[in-house]
Amino acid sequence: MTPRPADAVAIHEAAQLLKQGRLVAFPTETVYGLGADASNAEAVRGIFAAKGRPADHPLIVHLADKSMLPDWAAEVPASAWQLAERFWPGPLAVILRKKVSVPLAVTGGQDTVALRVPNHPVALQLLQAFGGGIAAPSANRYCRISPTQAAHVAEELGDAVAMILDGGPCQVGVESTIIDLSGGQPRLLRPGQLSVAAIEAVLQQTLLLPEAVSEIRAPGMMAVHYAPVTMALLCPAQDLAKLAQTFLDGHQRVGVLAYQQDLPAHPLLVVEHMPDSVAAYAQALYASLRKLDGLQLDRILVEQPPQTEAWRAVNDRLGKAAVAV
Ligand code: AMP
Ligand code: MG
Repeated sequence: MTPRPADAVAIHEAAQLLKQGRLVAFPTETVYGLGADASNAEAVRGIFAAKGRPADHPLIVHLADKSMLPDWAAEVPASAWQLAERFWPGPLAVILRKKVSVPLAVTGGQDTVALRVPNHPVALQLLQAFGGGIAAPSANRYCRISPTQAAHVAEELGDAVAMILDGGPCQVGVESTIIDLSGGQPRLLRPGQLSVAAIEAVLQQTLLLPEAVSEIRAPGMMAVHYAPVTMALLCPAQDLAKLAQTFLDGHQRVGVLAYQQDLPAHPLLVVEHMPDSVAAYAQALYASLRKLDGLQLDRILVEQPPQTEAWRAVNDRLGKAAVAV
């Protein structure tokens, strides 16, 4: 499937395809999504088939505007309105109790639904042309690296999708922050670009953080998720050169996702240098990992970036893509 430039004609056609129950991949500010009509259980089942994703992994329903929240949520708590007001359109999904009308196929059988208004002109135009909610997980095969460019979607899903809208590279690069507002204290289920502090400031409440919660509910939080096929190791900066040399001495082909370290050139070594700032690092992360993963290397070494709060989302994804050494 060749991606189509996301002009007005292509977006209109994509909306028609969605109405017919077909699958359309489209850009959002986070990653590319694999969309289906969220009110059509059969269409939604097509997403799971195309991704090879287990049916109990819930999807996020994308909306054109926060005014559509009451169409999907049984109740919209004040906290949800506050977050929507401040952060939508934007890289934040909220989990609310679902309306009876929301297909269980969308929610993986749960009585809650994830909702978000994406901040991307193509996604918003598609949502407006379509008129309803679009269920969309990342447009990759199950457990693989999320796509941040239209070409990645074509690589991942081939002809399993009726259309791929090309809106250029995604700006944020990692999946949305997910906040559970379905009961009790608000919980961070998945970190994203928005900081915990910014969300807490709006809620005027502290968030329950994943490290404080033992029982894991969001499939996006599984230990291995966004992973390359090549064995990947997450390595402290000071051990990187030594570890790389050990593998090179063993005649292995080594890819390095480097942050600050400079490694001496070696015929079996490919170094992908990552940007300094967390925003630029996050934006480049999946494309860089995908590039190294496509080189048939024996091993990928990821230099551990800073382990500060600002890097929470990046470190979360690296922890899922690579095994810590
Ligand atoms: P993906 O975009 O592929 O990461 O998929 C959407 C993610 O949203 C899932 O992996 C879940 O972590 C999360 N999600 C969606 N709906 C719910 C829900 N009702 N409860 C908890 N997590 C959800
Ligand atoms: Mg995903």
